[in-house]
Amino acid sequence: MLPGIKSRLVASHLAVAIVAAAAVSVVLSVAFTRLQVEYYKHALLASALALADALETDFGTPHGQVQARHALRKLAANRPWGLAVVNATGTVSGSTDASLPEGLCLATPAEVAAATRSVLLIPNATGGEPYAVAVAPVEKSKRTIGMVRAWVTRQEFDASVAPLKRTLTLALGAVCALSVLLSLILAQALISPIRRMRQLSQRVARGDFAIRIGRTTDDELGALASDLDAMASRLQDLESLRRDFVGNVSHELRSPVSNIRVTSEVLQRRASQWGADSEHLFQTIVLETERLETLIAELMELSAIESGALQLQIEVVEAKPFFGELIESVSALADHRGIRLAVQAEPGLVIRADRVRLERALRNLLDNAIKFTPAGGQVTLSARTAGREVEIEVADTGEGIATADLPRIFERFYRTDKARQRKGGAGIGLAIVKHIVEAHGGTVRVSSEEGRGSKFCLRLSRD
Ligand code: ADP
Repeated sequence: MLPGIKSRLVASHLAVAIVAAAAVSVVLSVAFTRLQVEYYKHALLASALALADALETDFGTPHGQVQARHALRKLAANRPWGLAVVNATGTVSGSTDASLPEGLCLATPAEVAAATRSVLLIPNATGGEPYAVAVAPVEKSKRTIGMVRAWVTRQEFDASVAPLKRTLTLALGAVCALSVLLSLILAQALISPIRRMRQLSQRVARGDFAIRIGRTTDDELGALASDLDAMASRLQDLESLRRDFVGNVSHELRSPVSNIRVTSEVLQRRASQWGADSEHLFQTIVLETERLETLIAELMELSAIESGALQLQIEVVEAKPFFGELIESVSALADHRGIRLAVQAEPGLVIRADRVRLERALRNLLDNAIKFTPAGGQVTLSARTAGREVEIEVADTGEGIATADLPRIFERFYRTDKARQRKGGAGIGLAIVKHIVEAHGGTVRVSSEEGRGSKFCLRLSRD
């Protein structure tokens, strides 16, 4: 399954935040490292120069030696870098670093004599090796008689930039977490009207036009939501117009059609006066008018049910005797078509329903089952408890329904191609069944296999 809009939005926000925060962190880290290098270069040189300056007067004398040791001790406590004093012979005469003991040879006399103030950066230094080294000559009478070295190790330098790098990493994490949180809030705000629109379209697709989204946001989504509301309200108006129209027309047709049937029956009885064919012709008129009457009655019933006029008289119906009466009422038709009828119901099983309406629904299903099952087949009416519900099933061994037709079978006026080829109902029966079952708060499902039969399963609450 593709990830939803919400997760895609969060992922894209997160990606943008990570890239942006990482870029800012890299730039800041590089800039800060450069600044820190400049600071150390400057500070090391200043420190070496200051020491060289302070030692200049008595350099090389015993007093100067004491002075140098004292100054170095003080400096060692306050500076994160090392300092060493080198005399004219190139040996260390004092240092803040124990690894450079007095007397250690650090340079040749010529190197000391040529020393100038300078700062050197050693890019490949690792760990405890000097990374930046500053040299300041100690001069007397324009002659270089020693030098001071100041240096910072790679370790010390890295330790000085580490807090910033840590802060940047923390900030990066915080930015990502914040961006996830913000994008979740944003996505939620964006998704909730879309979800409501989806609910609306699903309910409209099921024929329920009463749903509205209401006010959402003042943007394109808000405009779409109000367009959908307008569409649902227009469809609701049309639906009510359609219902009223069907109801009114059926009502108006009922009396003239009934008059035509009565008149045709009278004429049929006198048919002998009009020649040999006339009885057959009158019989056709009577049969067709009867079909019209049935259709009109079904249309009026559907229209009454759909307009919400269905008032249920719920009572406790005992399944076994109720099914017995139902089967009895269709047995003549079944016998005529050569179809066996069977009933299965748990003894004592009761159904809470409007007896007349439930009988109407089951009659429709039984009539269909008999109509669409060839001679020699079987139709079974059964009921069983299923948790807090009762499951009623009408099963046949008939021609079945094509998979493509199944989703539309409960729509009003829907008939399969096969059913259209023969005379019969107008595709209203199952729509009535669905309305009756749903008015009871129940559900109706169909399963079918072409050539093997169909099963209509009603679930009604037992409470
Ligand atoms: P109709 O009055 O035309 O029977 P229904 O609404 O009762 O209308 O049924 C709609 C269509 O569903 C029928 O035309 C038929 O094609 C199909 N159908 C209903 N029940 C069965 C069944 N038991 N077996 C096969 N097809 C069925």
